Amino acid sequence: MAKTFAMVLEEFNKPLVPTEVEIPELTEGQILVRISYAGICGSDVHMWRGEDARTPLPMILGHEGVGYIEKIKGEVKDINGVPLKEGDFILWSRSVSCGKCYYCRIAMTPERCPQRWTYGIHRGFAEPPHLLGCYARHIVVEAGTDIFRADPNKIDPAVLVSASCSGATVAHAFELGRPQFGDVVLVQGAGPLGLYGVAFAKQSGASQIIVIAGTESRLELAKKLGATMVLNRRKTSLEERKELIMEATYGRGVDVALEAAGTVPAFEEGITLLRPGGTYLSVGFGVPAGTTELDCFEIVRRNLKIQGVWVSDTRHTHQALAVLYNDAEAFSEIVSHRI
Ligand code: ZN
Ligand code: ZN
Repeated sequence: MAKTFAMVLEEFNKPLVPTEVEIPELTEGQILVRISYAGICGSDVHMWRGEDARTPLPMILGHEGVGYIEKIKGEVKDINGVPLKEGDFILWSRSVSCGKCYYCRIAMTPERCPQRWTYGIHRGFAEPPHLLGCYARHIVVEAGTDIFRADPNKIDPAVLVSASCSGATVAHAFELGRPQFGDVVLVQGAGPLGLYGVAFAKQSGASQIIVIAGTESRLELAKKLGATMVLNRRKTSLEERKELIMEATYGRGVDVALEAAGTVPAFEEGITLLRPGGTYLSVGFGVPAGTTELDCFEIVRRNLKIQGVWVSDTRHTHQALAVLYNDAEAFSEIVSHRI
């Protein structure tokens, strides 16, 4: 039987263990993919540290990946209904929902499906078909997974990886709190989530895009993606940032803010920068990071909308791919390290 290898997380906070694995016999609808690139998401780091209660050990981490189809069992179609074949380059929805429950069919929020599972997060290495994470030479894409064909010649496949997680999550946020043409959008954080936030804001017709983050090189990248004002939180005070943002918005505050920092201080600051009637979209908290006090009267009086955004569904990956392809060149620098 053919063999491949995987990097297996056996113990939290310990190096991943290179492990030889037998490639399983495929069952109907399964696809064997040779991974080209996999992304290291903030969630992977939390899981490696043992901070994510969902992680069964041993585990092949990695929920964002792209690669070439090596083998297919039966007929499998991509999201456009086109049959897939060996040699196709694909990206897939990182999670699979049941498609039958209240959340999938009535609430139309498959991302909240109680049966939803994610490659590299929920199903451990012990469970067949074992190869269910992207930190491996091969992955088995299960029947029922939504699949996108992609062209590795049109876009750097390493960049493409981010569309299925951070890109899709930001698409979900923009679906829930879509800015109107001409809105001023604030983005807090300039990791992959924040940078997608800038690109989505630009492509949604924002009149100004303000970014607060702590790394100069990422702020520069935010500018390339369309940020019109960048504020380094390490070089400015809370008061200075508020003053600059109020000045830029005629004393109103921003129409929409996207929290992509995952810290309580960012959340607390973001709320104060909204205009009355503004919308706060919080996507950055992948694991519990603390609590805060909210002035209930202030939220009511200022007509604020505070929206949490948890993960994403297949349509959001589709939207993220569109935003990515529209601005492929600016996104080319989003990859900070290649390992
Ligand atoms: Zn992720
Ligand atoms: Zn469901």
